Amino acid sequence: MSHSDVIADRAEKVIARCKRLASVTEARGSTCRTFLSIATRECYRVVGEWLEAAGAEVTIDAAGNLRGFYPAAQTAAPRLLLGSHLDSVPDAGAYDGVLGVVLAVSLLETLEDRRLPFAIEVIGFSEEEGIRFGTPFIGSRALVGKINDELLNRTDTNGVSVRTAIENFGLKPTEISKAAMNSDSLAYVEFHIEQGPVLESLGIPLGIVEGIAGQTRAEFTFLGRANHAGTTPMNLRHDAMSGAAEWILEVERVAKREKGLVATVGRIVATPNAANVIAGQVRLSLDVRHKSDNARIRAADFLAVQAEEIAHRRGLTVERKVLLNQPAVSMDPFLMDQIEQAARQTGCTTHRMVSGAGHDAMILAEKIPTAMIFLRTPGGLSHHPSESVSVEDVAKAIECGTLLLTQLAASVEFQKRTARA
Ligand SMILES: [Zn+2]
Repeated sequence: MSHSDVIADRAEKVIARCKRLASVTEARGSTCRTFLSIATRECYRVVGEWLEAAGAEVTIDAAGNLRGFYPAAQTAAPRLLLGSHLDSVPDAGAYDGVLGVVLAVSLLETLEDRRLPFAIEVIGFSEEEGIRFGTPFIGSRALVGKINDELLNRTDTNGVSVRTAIENFGLKPTEISKAAMNSDSLAYVEFHIEQGPVLESLGIPLGIVEGIAGQTRAEFTFLGRANHAGTTPMNLRHDAMSGAAEWILEVERVAKREKGLVATVGRIVATPNAANVIAGQVRLSLDVRHKSDNARIRAADFLAVQAEEIAHRRGLTVERKVLLNQPAVSMDPFLMDQIEQAARQTGCTTHRMVSGAGHDAMILAEKIPTAMIFLRTPGGLSHHPSESVSVEDVAKAIECGTLLLTQLAASVEFQKRTARA
């Protein structure tokens, strides 16, 4: 078999494994795996077998992350972390998160028991999507030591706390501090589907993530006066719905004006929400993202001023509640260059891009140099059963990952690095 046939075989195996894991689910007829569910246990059993067969020692930490340790040529060597998350949204596809873990397993397999100057730890994060407890990144937060009592006491819709969920899985919440990443961790690299249309529109299989956009989330409430839709003349109304509508279009206009800015009103709740009553109150969500914190904060502040202006002109009032103000995160320049070099060697044109979605990489970047590689997502479709990737693109990812390991193994600069923690 030629080299490219071998890689194509590995890529097909990766896709088959992702599809197999999509059938490991807690929902009937669709894919759903939430934090430490019964389906998670089966998923860990299957992935754990693959990891062991590839030469890794498998454990589950107290935050429920699946961890596979592939030793280095020498003991007391540092380690490289590879991974992504194994939980999913309801009615999920087969690749979001899972692909990053299965690709990491495949990279261990390509080593064929060859040892590198650093160990490789593959991590399948237990919780990234935030479905069960409404709080994302529980798995990766444990690696950076950011699990506190408040988080452990949060409950799901059945009243089961994070702490109890961990105990029910047979793990010890008191040992969560031991889930923190080892101080010998050099870097974290995550493969993930793009979940957007950019790479497809450019005709490029792999994207190099340069940063993860910061996010502002807020709730705006326009307050007017509910009244009869038939008897209240137009000039005597305080219509919260019309004010909200004008502001929604302003949100779109402001976002279109600034390159890289995305702003969304995705939720609207009108009160009393009746066909023959002028809306007295309209509550709206606002989500603003940009790679530059300044640009994001400026836009969010401007939109708050515009809401005031619109409300004032229409005889309404407006209230704002900021729910999230999360700074942007940069990926590691050295690793980005290394990935670019590896990707080019596979014959790919490379593209650097910002991730509009949050990822475990965002959490780990607080402590260690971190990089992400995106795979082209057909139709830009994700969080959907039709989510897909092509065999050719997965083959490019395997080739790029293998070359990256070779480069890092030869790089004195890389191995001298120690955790910023
Ligand atoms: Zn994901």
